[in-house]
Amino acid sequence: MAEAVAASAAGEGTCAICLEETPLAALPCCDNATTTESTTRFCLECLRMNCEHGGGVARCPRCRAWISVEDEEVVAHDGTGRCSICMQEPRVLVARGRAPDGGSVAICDACWLGNQIALRYECQGCGGVQRIPHPMWRYQTDGPEAFGHTPWACHVRCGTYTRWRVIPEDVARVPHGDAPESWGVDIVRQIRARQGRERRRAALREAGERQRRERQARVARAARAVEPAAAVEPAVELHDAMAAEEEAGRCRVM
Ligand SMILES: [Zn+2]
Ligand SMILES: [Zn+2]
Ligand SMILES: [Zn+2]
Ligand SMILES: [Zn+2]
Repeated sequence: MAEAVAASAAGEGTCAICLEETPLAALPCCDNATTTESTTRFCLECLRMNCEHGGGVARCPRCRAWISVEDEEVVAHDGTGRCSICMQEPRVLVARGRAPDGGSVAICDACWLGNQIALRYECQGCGGVQRIPHPMWRYQTDGPEAFGHTPWACHVRCGTYTRWRVIPEDVARVPHGDAPESWGVDIVRQIRARQGRERRRAALREAGERQRRERQARVARAARAVEPAAAVEPAVELHDAMAAEEEAGRCRVM
């Protein structure tokens, strides 16, 4: 019996995000857990997209452990350390790079997310709305309507540290799987909706790109049909004409 469960871990099935019948990814974090949701499985591509959305890492939509996708495999993300921006540690580090002075730079998931998704929050003190480059929603552990427990400086009216909550219009932009568990949102459904939007946008971009290339090709064909000199001459003439006009203008002023 146990063997049958293990065999289905990375077998074929329906991905809970894209709803396609596809090979499913084995999850390092919770495939062995005997949870009631263990029938919820995902394909590698959906998990990869979800990780890309979070700077390379994301929380497992099933158990919320940090994961990343490396070499066609879902792996547990264990890169923790000191963040070069907020200087806190240990933090889950998502982006690494080289500083101009050669030293290494590591950005924690909170700083990275906050930078990517600076949402608008309402101040509990003055009711003002401020954009904050930090995932303040994480501190709203009592629900999306409740103000968070960790303060941030209010530059609207208070001039001091106050509590915040995401404004309703921006709640949907909280990354999926990143909201406190108490929000009770259907993480899988949210990821699916977002990826559907992104796929549609990508398709539109591709179509636009294709049109642009076709237009360029038409222009190039048209240009080849005329003498090369003819394409250069008008620009020179225009320049001369402008210079002449300028000259004339100066003369008139004098
Ligand atoms: Zn999928
Ligand atoms: Zn998991
Ligand atoms: Zn940080
Ligand atoms: Zn305020």
